Amino acid sequence: MKTRRWLLNDHPRGRPLKDGDFLLVATDLPEPGPGEALLQTLWLGFDPAQKGWAENVADYVAPMAIGDVMRGSGIARVLKSNTPRLQEGALYAGMTCWTEHLITDGQGFEAVHPDLPPTAMLSVLGTTGLTAWCGLFKLGEPKPGDTVLVSGAAGATGSTVGQLAKVAGCRTIGIAGGAEKCRWLVEEAGYDAAIDYKNEDLRARLKALAPHGVDVVFDNVGGRILNDMLGHIATGARIVICGGISRYETGTMPAGPENYFNLVFRRATMRGFIVLDWASEFPGLRQRLAGLVKDGRLVFRVDEQIGFENAPKTLMRLFSGANRGKQVLKVAD
Ligand code: NAP
Repeated sequence: MKTRRWLLNDHPRGRPLKDGDFLLVATDLPEPGPGEALLQTLWLGFDPAQKGWAENVADYVAPMAIGDVMRGSGIARVLKSNTPRLQEGALYAGMTCWTEHLITDGQGFEAVHPDLPPTAMLSVLGTTGLTAWCGLFKLGEPKPGDTVLVSGAAGATGSTVGQLAKVAGCRTIGIAGGAEKCRWLVEEAGYDAAIDYKNEDLRARLKALAPHGVDVVFDNVGGRILNDMLGHIATGARIVICGGISRYETGTMPAGPENYFNLVFRRATMRGFIVLDWASEFPGLRQRLAGLVKDGRLVFRVDEQIGFENAPKTLMRLFSGANRGKQVLKVAD
């Protein structure tokens, strides 16, 4: 029997992704050896960081070579197990990479949550939810009454940040592209206000919504939006740099944000982070996130595309803003 996998075919450095960056190949279905299991991938999860991994610009993960199986997370079912770590028939989340089947010893794979849909392990209980939690609470240090401003707010991470900030007693303003995303932010994700950066004057809206400045900025986007947000910080503000998706497709980097000197005037701090640094805390944080979901205090949406052959196109959706919530791809039933 044959199985398929996507290989990295080019490093998409400083340019948008294209179809030819990945190569679909078929190989024989492998047999698990002693201490190993054969898994079938059911869903793939997509993160903007995958582009950075394929470019080899991220030095917190091992470099990727042309011909490597594309790296990424997923949910898989155990078809055959020779290890007590993985139970036959059960579902696990981990780095499946872009493969229909894989052999693993089970290291790094976690059982899916028993009470939530399996894809929750890729979204609200996965890197997305953990990133929102760690960035907001460990770096943003929100206090009740603070105003929290989030860019990329309708995305998987951003929509979780806003809801966690509400749980912490804050007022929230989200920035997203398009009227539909902004409506969802306020009506479903509980943001107090939303700004459509594609159709509204961001600076004027910030001035109107937060005349005294914002206390916490959670930035997923960088570039012009970060610059405008830096122009609207309150004294003692904490600026959390989570991502910079506006620069992931550009070759030449723009000059630093003109408004950076506001950090001095406002005695503010700006810090970046990599969520993996708190990996030892993930099991406990997952439980707390699951509790909020079950209490109805944290909603999440999953954007499910279909078909293993669509993996590259599904990754591209993150960069065009086509995704509505956590981007996943269903590859088998
Ligand atoms: P996401 O927000 O669900 O999807 C990406 C969104 O980015 C798109 O829907 C789009 O929304 C927006 N976007 C794309 N190009 C843009 C541009 N040029 N300008 C402004 N917005 C743009 O993705 P996610 O997985 O939750 O990731 C969000 C951010 O978190 C990413 O920057 C990612 O790298 C970062 N991250 C960081 C860590 C860490 O450890 N530091 C961990 C995980 C993720 P609009 O339609 O609103 O433009």
